[in-house]
Amino acid sequence: MSSETPVVRLHRTFFKKDGTRKTVHPWIFSSSIKSVEGEPGPGTVVSAYDATGNFVGYGHFSPSSSIRVRLLSTDIKIYPDDEWFRLMIEKSVGRRIPMLGKRIRSDSCRLVFGESDGLPGLVIDKYGEYLAAQFLTCGMDGMKGKIANFAMEASGAKSLIDRSDCELRKLEGIPDSNPFSAGAADALPSSILINENNFKFNVSLAEGQKTGFFIDQRDNRLAASSFIRAGMSVLDCFSYTGAFSINAAGAGAGSLTLVDESQPALDIAEDNFKINGMESVKRQYFSGNAFKILREFRDRNMSFDFIILDPPKFAPTKASIDKASRAYKDINLLAMKLLNAGGFIATFSCSSGMDREKFREILCWAAEDSGKDFQIVHSFSQPADHPVALDFPESEYLKGFLLRII
Ligand code: SAH
Repeated sequence: MSSETPVVRLHRTFFKKDGTRKTVHPWIFSSSIKSVEGEPGPGTVVSAYDATGNFVGYGHFSPSSSIRVRLLSTDIKIYPDDEWFRLMIEKSVGRRIPMLGKRIRSDSCRLVFGESDGLPGLVIDKYGEYLAAQFLTCGMDGMKGKIANFAMEASGAKSLIDRSDCELRKLEGIPDSNPFSAGAADALPSSILINENNFKFNVSLAEGQKTGFFIDQRDNRLAASSFIRAGMSVLDCFSYTGAFSINAAGAGAGSLTLVDESQPALDIAEDNFKINGMESVKRQYFSGNAFKILREFRDRNMSFDFIILDPPKFAPTKASIDKASRAYKDINLLAMKLLNAGGFIATFSCSSGMDREKFREILCWAAEDSGKDFQIVHSFSQPADHPVALDFPESEYLKGFLLRII
């Protein structure tokens, strides 16, 4: 620690009477700060001390966010300098690479997952030979050039593209950054082909949603499709570029109906059928609001054997949970009504504000109104490259159930 490191003093104590430390959540909220010594700016490394003067950790300071400090190192002897970041990224990448092609059935995966890898505010995804990153705190944003180089060095990637264009940065008060990239400037193609579960997918790194593809659903696509029997009619609702559909078609689905509000995503889905040699698979696309389209399906007496419901984050925070619960209930009820006897629904929530039990309660509520009885035949979660931090429950964000009508 340098003598200039600003100090943040907290109201609480973090140590028990016997001197052992309590579990420390990696976020320090503004309300838990008693005083700040020095003048930390956006992204400055500060040291935090608890009410009895014990060292809590070094962290990145965010002056305009209610999450005022995000802890990096909790060891007073280990100051998070550039070398610390380099090593942390190297270790994080080193935990993923041996899983590629094995537990991770893909050439693409998440290399750094924020707090779960001890690097709050940093997300780095690998797509084949390229990286897409999100710098979500002022601390990480301020060092993105260095981080990009560390990540390319550790992974051997050709280049990195900044995909920080997301809402979270607004809460941090970070201005929308100019598009940033690192590595060979001409090395980033407008779209690339990745391989997942032995299927190929077209990914637009610069334009696609999130960092380009929903790599976190890889295992769940495979698990869901293992329940598909030849000839089943499948509705892929919130399909994006059709990754669940392609897995379902590979498992023998007889027809696919894809629904998404993004026409560009559906255009890529159609490419994906072709790239995988699935031109002859029966398929149709509906572009628009899923809530409206599912009602139209109901009015036209359409029905399906297998429905996938993978909506966007309706509850990004705990505060939006009530409104989100209503949306989850409505969409699940609509889907349940469209299901044939003996049919399945693979239903997901990627909202960190919604825990598994609450989601299950909402499904019970929808099932009751649908007048149908369901059993859970499989539980979905997030894959090994999106690990959950033991002391950070918010990192367990992806949950789902495979329901079957009995
Ligand atoms: N299942 C996809 C990922 C879905 S992400 C996959 O496996 O890749 C959520 C998707 O919902 C996005 O593609 C987004 O365009 C779409 N979306 C968001 N709101 C919607 C709405 N109200 N109606 C239809 N689609 C919506």
